[in-house]
Amino acid sequence: MLHTLRYHSTNCFFVASARDKRLLALDAGWACTLREYQRAMKQIGLRYQDMAWAIVTHFHMDHAGLITDFMADGIQCIVFENQLHAIDAMEKTIWKNQPDYRAIDKSKLTQLRVAEAREFFATLGIRGEILRTDGHSPDSISFLSDEHEVVIGDLYPIEAVMPDDEKSNRSWELILAKGGKHIFPSHANAFTV
Ligand SMILES: [Zn+2]
Repeated sequence: MLHTLRYHSTNCFFVASARDKRLLALDAGWACTLREYQRAMKQIGLRYQDMAWAIVTHFHMDHAGLITDFMADGIQCIVFENQLHAIDAMEKTIWKNQPDYRAIDKSKLTQLRVAEAREFFATLGIRGEILRTDGHSPDSISFLSDEHEVVIGDLYPIEAVMPDDEKSNRSWELILAKGGKHIFPSHANAFTV
């Protein structure tokens, strides 16, 4: 079961390990908002101290802004093969408004291949996998749990995708083919397909 955290018009999600209840964070919030993020976690009954791992649906400032803070607190942050290149552009954007933002130390990220994600999650006590869903941006991924929940990041809702938007249509075909059912977008309410 996914936990949803809402703050600053963005949803972040958590999956608890079946083994030890530690949390995998799906998305890492806005830059320079750690206190608010922690407060929002408390409000939904979760403890920041229980967070052990984090992945992001894509490297935009409202989804991956707290990675540096997470790593400083010992949280293992995972990056997939299509994501590493997107970090610099995100950070340039953040610095325009947040000069205090500290860059992600890329050498401290755990690099993982999308194809290896299921096996990796299993070692954490989490059942699910990662899908390459690059409708929103080349670095976008979705998390699909074995309970058919899908965290899609900023992929357009299925009914809003234009017929000629091949990448978004392919992303949805993949989600449906893999059995995705309960869809959790970052900036809208969850829905079922
Ligand atoms: Zn967003």
